Parts: sequence; C-alpha cells; structure tokens
Amino acid sequence: MTKQESLKALNVRMAASCTCTLKSTATQAVPGVGNPDADIMFIGEAPGKKEDEQGVPFVGASGKFLAEMLATINLKRDDIYITNIVKFRPPDNRDPLPAEVLACEEWLHEQIKIIRPKVIVTLGRHAMEHFIPGQKISEVHGQSFTQTLPDIGTQTFFVLYHPAAALYNGSLRQTLIADFQKIPKVVDQLKS
Ligand code: URA
Repeated sequence: MTKQESLKALNVRMAASCTCTLKSTATQAVPGVGNPDADIMFIGEAPGKKEDEQGVPFVGASGKFLAEMLATINLKRDDIYITNIVKFRPPDNRDPLPAEVLACEEWLHEQIKIIRPKVIVTLGRHAMEHFIPGQKISEVHGQSFTQTLPDIGTQTFFVLYHPAAALYNGSLRQTLIADFQKIPKVVDQLKS
C-alpha cells in the first residue's frame, strides 16, 4: 500500500470507530489533508466552523494566514500535511477536553507513523503539550525538540504559536512569522 492508500484506509476506519464524544455534535470528521510524503507535518488544535463544514483543516482565517506564511518559505499547502490533535469540532470552538484528545490520539499517532515526517510543527499550546509536556509556549516557540515517545518513536518537533492567536496580535504575529522562517533550516539539518 502507498502512504496515500494507508492514510485513506486509516481515515475511513477511524471515522467509523473513533470514540470521541465530539462526534455527536460535529458535522463530520476533519482527518487531515496534504502530501502523505511530506517532510513537514503541521498539527493544530481542533477544527473550527469552516473546517467542520468542509471536512478540511485550516480553511478559515487561520488557514489563510498559514498559507501566506508557507508562501514566504516557498511552500504550498500541497507540499505539507496538515491535521489537528482533535478530529472533530468542539462546540463553540472551546478548547478540546483531555478525554477528547485521548479519544483522537490513536488516529493522530497512526497518521504520524504512516507519514513519518522529518519534522512535526506544532501550532499552539495544545498541540505542543501533547508531544512536549511541561513547557511554556512563550519560552519555547521557535525551538525544536527531539522526543522519543512510546507510541511514535523518535521524532523532531518544532514549536510555533497558533496562527489564530497571532492573527490579531501585532507582536505575536511578527514573532510567528520570524519563527516560521526557521523551518527550512530545521528540515535541512534533519535531512543531512
Ligand atoms: N484551528 C485549528 O487549530 N485547526 C483548524 O483546522 C482550524 C483552525
């Protein structure tokens, strides 16, 4: 099976079997989108309203900002893989609960094991905390961490603020754009 086929089979299986209680209020699952052979996988928090309607992650305002930042490093959405910690929209865009993150964990970790990206870019506090617990995003944004996790194995992560948090905050926005510029170097170092 190609990575594309494995991801498709996983997404079909998990959309049916995932026990996340957000399923009952969401329109549909938002599994992920992009290049299964990508070197870079972006992981956000949870789908919002537009994502829930379309079944595709980062299609709203945050997604537009993400696409703009990708363009600054000569990448398109099709070059990377994008997903979220939680695969269903939390009502009123509230933060996902620990039980919801746990229920979606198998889905996320299997995606990572199929794609095996060089680097996972975490967007925001929730995604960071899932893989690199006990850190403050204000202290570690723009840094990479190589972690050995029981389920996933050894994987490098790069921490960014969430585009939604930075969209309407001028200084956070500049920080996020500056951190984003470091991504190509992180990938190149992992390739060599
Ligand atoms: N914010 C996220 O974290 N994920 C999305 O898919 C959209 C907005």
